[in-house]
Amino acid sequence: MKALINANIFDFEIYKEGQYVLFEEEIKEVGNMSEFKGADEVYDCSGSIIMPSLLNGHTHVYSTFARGLNIPFNPKNFKDILEQLWWKMDSKLDRRAVYYSGIAYAHDCIKSGVTTIIDHHASGLEISGTLNELKKSICDYMSLRGIFCFETSDRFNVDECIKENLDFAKGSKSNNYSGIFGMHASMSLSDNTLKKISDSIDDLPIHIHAAESFEDEEDSKIKYGKSVVKRLDDFNLIKENSILAHCIYLDKEEAEIIGKRNAYAAINPTSNMNNAVGLFDYRLLKEHNVRCILGNDGLGTNISRDYLNLFFGMKYRFKSPIAFSFDDLKEVIDNGYKYAGKLLNIKIGRIKTGYRADMISVLYKSPTAISNDNKMSHLIFGIFDNFHPKDVWCDGEILLKNYEMTKNIGDIYNEIKKESIKVWERIGKGE
Ligand SMILES: [Zn+2]
Repeated sequence: MKALINANIFDFEIYKEGQYVLFEEEIKEVGNMSEFKGADEVYDCSGSIIMPSLLNGHTHVYSTFARGLNIPFNPKNFKDILEQLWWKMDSKLDRRAVYYSGIAYAHDCIKSGVTTIIDHHASGLEISGTLNELKKSICDYMSLRGIFCFETSDRFNVDECIKENLDFAKGSKSNNYSGIFGMHASMSLSDNTLKKISDSIDDLPIHIHAAESFEDEEDSKIKYGKSVVKRLDDFNLIKENSILAHCIYLDKEEAEIIGKRNAYAAINPTSNMNNAVGLFDYRLLKEHNVRCILGNDGLGTNISRDYLNLFFGMKYRFKSPIAFSFDDLKEVIDNGYKYAGKLLNIKIGRIKTGYRADMISVLYKSPTAISNDNKMSHLIFGIFDNFHPKDVWCDGEILLKNYEMTKNIGDIYNEIKKESIKVWERIGKGE
């Protein structure tokens, strides 16, 4: 049995000082230090806050090799951003590049205290077997949890995309990984493709970009005479637990459909600002009972930055300092854990008996008192403001110990660099 001792626990629900946590893969017991009876492996957490490790609700591991990529880029709109950067990039990825980008991304996730990711994957050179490559690198090798899918798009062989999603989602399952059905966006999917998908997915939830840009809505209204969400819903695609990423240009009817179908909106404020596409209407989503989870759309791994941008961004959007409360923040955090917990059939997101031992320690010295009444203020203005996890555990395994990775990936990192060079060469040659 392992134990954290002298821990100040902060799991978004409660704040308690001087605690011990007994755990293996799962948290077995939490109590006051005065009652601690010993364990085989003990981590002294004096001076640290112990929190649940974090989750990224919408990301693209394939963005790993875009860092520093220097190609002609002069977009006038969002479609140009896709055509001039992302579609050039993902079209040049093969299985090997996918595997190594997974290792690099997982490495950075661990450093950022993130142990569960919901990925939206695309790779044009090879489609079949790529979700398994992500699972191999991120879950099997790097010991994180992931929910994966392939972005079906008319840019690719649609039948192969559908098969890849179904093979992975209906294949082996574990508490570490799971699959849902990926689709790129309404504007890159014909009615023919939507019908094919609708006929083949049964109750599998979908994961799609929805109304990320004005063009996505405009395309749907001009070509099909209806909004993006109405179009997807008319094909019976918005199943329970589906993820609609971005949801910026939704109207009331669309928000209502998402809420009624028990689907989720994955909001990505930092990415939205980077792409200059505007920010989602959190109030509209909330009014229609749409549960929001937070993602970063593949923009790095430090999701604490996205929580800060969510908190500040909504106040800016509504020109009101009370537009987004600490309760709203807690709800978004909890939604992510509940969603992934459901898909992986585990409990995560609390430091509590029966929950998985997915935890981080963060050194935190506060000039002011911390209590249950002000803990979320400490999260935003203290912990996330200078966020450097010291230790990270996933499923009870220590992955970051005193700021150092416990897995030796030195040699693998050389392979990662080699793969990135190959990908950039393929992009440069426009093969
Ligand atoms: Zn995305």
